[in-house]
Amino acid sequence: MHSLQQLLEEKFGYTNFRKGQEAIIQKVLDHESVLGIMPTGGGKSICYQLPALMLEGLTLVVSPLISLMKDQVDSLNEMGIKAAYINSSLTYPEIKERLYEAASGRIKLLYIAPERFASEDFQRLLKNVAIAFVAIDEAHCISQWGHDFRPSYLELAESLKKIEPRPAIIALTATATPQVSKDICQLLDIPESNQVKTGFARENLAFQVIKDQKDTYLLQYLKVNKDQSGIIYASTRKEVERIYAILKHAELSVGRYHGGLTEEERSENQEAFLFDRLQVMVATNAFGMGINKSNVRFVIHAQIPGNIESYYQEAGRAGRDGLASEAILLYAPRDLQIQKFFIEQSESTQEYKHHEYDKLRAMNQYAHTQSCLQTYILHYFGEEGRDCGRCSNCLDDREAVDITEDTQKILSCVKRMGERFGKSLVSQVLTGSNNQRIEQWHFNQLTTYGLMKEKSQKEVSQLIDYLTAERYLQPSEGQFPLLTVPAKGVAVLLGKQKVFRKQASVKQLVIDDELFDKLRTLRRDLAQAQNMPPYIVFSDSTLKEMAEKRPQNTLEMLQIKGVGQSKLTKYGEDFLAVLTQKED
Ligand code: ADP
Repeated sequence: MHSLQQLLEEKFGYTNFRKGQEAIIQKVLDHESVLGIMPTGGGKSICYQLPALMLEGLTLVVSPLISLMKDQVDSLNEMGIKAAYINSSLTYPEIKERLYEAASGRIKLLYIAPERFASEDFQRLLKNVAIAFVAIDEAHCISQWGHDFRPSYLELAESLKKIEPRPAIIALTATATPQVSKDICQLLDIPESNQVKTGFARENLAFQVIKDQKDTYLLQYLKVNKDQSGIIYASTRKEVERIYAILKHAELSVGRYHGGLTEEERSENQEAFLFDRLQVMVATNAFGMGINKSNVRFVIHAQIPGNIESYYQEAGRAGRDGLASEAILLYAPRDLQIQKFFIEQSESTQEYKHHEYDKLRAMNQYAHTQSCLQTYILHYFGEEGRDCGRCSNCLDDREAVDITEDTQKILSCVKRMGERFGKSLVSQVLTGSNNQRIEQWHFNQLTTYGLMKEKSQKEVSQLIDYLTAERYLQPSEGQFPLLTVPAKGVAVLLGKQKVFRKQASVKQLVIDDELFDKLRTLRRDLAQAQNMPPYIVFSDSTLKEMAEKRPQNTLEMLQIKGVGQSKLTKYGEDFLAVLTQKED
């Protein structure tokens, strides 16, 4: 029999377990039920996929969404692991066939929706085949205190109790308050001591709250990061349409998803996003549950969601591959009204509504807290945390840069030019450009001429915009405002006042890399040929490691995380061809 470690390397291409994985797997191998709480991207799937390979019998994986099943099964088959799914997208003969395959032991993992347990055919299967254990994904759906309660999960719990002999259960979730995890344990008969909790913190996510000029920020952000994949969430279909129109108009690669579209449009758009044909998806929260796309670099909430659980889960869809990613909330007080409306409209008890209002309040506080955003979320889930050093609150002080010296250069140049010119000529003088007007006015003889030549004219001009906004410079009215230095600016020139500037919060998420792009293109072509999303071939982090380490042969290739034996056989040669190409 293979050892755990061997299987991890050979099948999945990973050398080490992540936090919590081994502890959970050990319990499963000991036939004990266990609740695993790990953040999104923490690596929950391996916790049941590995033991499924080691134990006799069929492993059932219960998952609430159809899209996820296909993805997972494709991934497993890519790794040379026999798996299948049964759901309503299949025809009856197809279902029959898969049940037969499961019964005959030809597949190790069978993915199903909770409702399936009620079907007679399935009950028959349960009687005829030995079940290794049952994995329940998104286990928080069983709790009414969770934010995504599904009655079918409660029924599932009942059905499980009837299976003879009773299989061990592994319940997995990324979002559970202490109340919810207690609920899960109780309903699924998991001993409370059998909880493995790795902490909710997402080390690769930078949280941000932006409060001004939401549309402008969004456009700027998407232009800077236009080659990256991201999701934009809005609360209503109408707002999704509005944002979609703006982005479309800006010629960005964007799709939309909400309940008002036809089933066909939705699945078409979703597929285009998964296959990297569309970079950005604007969507209501109908989109994303069960989307496994690992190379989502940012999730932007254009409107505040109703509670921290939903927020963290949706935001958490960024960076599943472990690479640096951003989760941004664009905040406007009026958006709270929409959430209040949703609560009022729901047909629930007063007590429940009260509970929902509490959750909304906690969400609103998130937008206003001055302390670490990641820590705020962790506290909400009953966990301690240290300042993350990445979120907009942690970076707020650090990013305030002292720009007194540059300010003095600019203001004194404005003064020396007689306070009779506008931004463009001032920045030309400071960066030392040559043109007729400068010569005509003899500005090239000023001491401030070329004083900032290490900067581009655009940068200086942006700095002037900032100083104008902060009133260190006074513009005249009209189309081409002339700049003068008011008292506030004079104080800086006299050294009586310092000037600070917080760095712009839009940053380029991924630095251009030619080799990485080539690998990405190859991945897309290979995936396309098989009609699979590119991230199933290899994740972004695997490609990134290839681009960095440049393996030159199969042995070196196997050292890359995410390259297992089966994928090496399938794709190794193609990727090595690119990696060993001589640079021109
Ligand atoms: P979750 O279901 O918890 O959101 P996944 O199971 O989808 O997370 O795993 C997220 C990513 O991390 C996947 O790309 C997976 O292959 C990768 N991963 C899982 N375990 C490991 C490991 N031990 N070492 C490296 N990568 C891992």
